[in-house]
Amino acid sequence: MAGGGILGIESTAHTLSIGSVNGKGEPTPSHSAFFRPDEGGIHPREAADHHARKAGGLVKQILESGIDPTDVDAIAFSQGPGLGPCLRVGASVARALGSKWKVPIVGVNHCVAHIEIGRQQCGMDDPVLLYVSGGNTQVIARMAGRYRVLGETLDIGIGNMLDKFAREHDLPFPGGPKIEKLANEWHSENLSADLDDYALPYAVHGMDLAFSGIFTAACRLTQRGVPLGAACWSLQEHSFAACIEVAERAMAHTGKNELLFGGGVACNQRIKEMGKIMTQERGGECGVPHPQFCVDNGSMIATLGRLQLLNSGPTPLLSSAVNQGLRTDETDITWL
Ligand code: AMP
Ligand code: MG
Repeated sequence: MAGGGILGIESTAHTLSIGSVNGKGEPTPSHSAFFRPDEGGIHPREAADHHARKAGGLVKQILESGIDPTDVDAIAFSQGPGLGPCLRVGASVARALGSKWKVPIVGVNHCVAHIEIGRQQCGMDDPVLLYVSGGNTQVIARMAGRYRVLGETLDIGIGNMLDKFAREHDLPFPGGPKIEKLANEWHSENLSADLDDYALPYAVHGMDLAFSGIFTAACRLTQRGVPLGAACWSLQEHSFAACIEVAERAMAHTGKNELLFGGGVACNQRIKEMGKIMTQERGGECGVPHPQFCVDNGSMIATLGRLQLLNSGPTPLLSSAVNQGLRTDETDITWL
């Protein structure tokens, strides 16, 4: 980095990650530590303890990777939404580094960061974002100076639903990639399978989605003796199609013709394929950032931190408290 660089700290949930952008806004790969619970879901306090233990080592790694503190103009951090104890660790690291290196801090909206890194990586101007992650599932578009949530899950995030289904079947966390593998293996041997034979509830409510019913129904399939691979395939087909349907309606209503994926579930080949087919049929475009920028990462926080610093300035210390419930549409978009 030769001046103008920004460091970004991500700590909303299971991932503590530090990344950066250089003065031209180009991201570098992040250094990350992932909290993996021994059993069950993520306990916020345990995840926060993990982040606190790993923070020093990650800062050391990022310095050893060649980042010179004198080239860093600000420290950006995820201010929300997320798990309170985890967010507080990231914010504390940002304040500490800011104070040590005598640079300002910039609190950013985690969901908006997914959009901005995606726009930058895929060269998209004004996309509809399908944000499919562990804790969040939203369809978002920019209108009148904010990223508006046009549709979202009414219960759990799609990634958490997949992880929960995996856990019920003794598959390790994170469950999404394992479900994808089992679904592919089963489907490649059962190409003529009929989805109706493994039907699950299809929960699209207007522009919103829901995943707890589909989770319960998929568990019933395997309890009835349906092969796990078949249940994984059906679970993917139904839950992904629901997301793509809402995204398509958002494109139709807003008149936008770009679809941008974000969030860890966007690493899945099948949901990307569905997005590509849908946008092709509409004469639009589909963009998927590289997986390292789809999952939670510090570089995306640095990317948004840079935009905010240039357009609306840093975050005063007194306004730097974390906000667990920060909504995508609460953040003013002051950049192009
Ligand atoms: P994030 O919350 O954005 O960091 O993303 C994490 C979520 O992405 C977890 O719920 C994972 O199970 C999910 N995930 C990661 N890779 C895949 C994949 N290939 N297919 C489906 N879900 C995935
Ligand atoms: Mg995320």
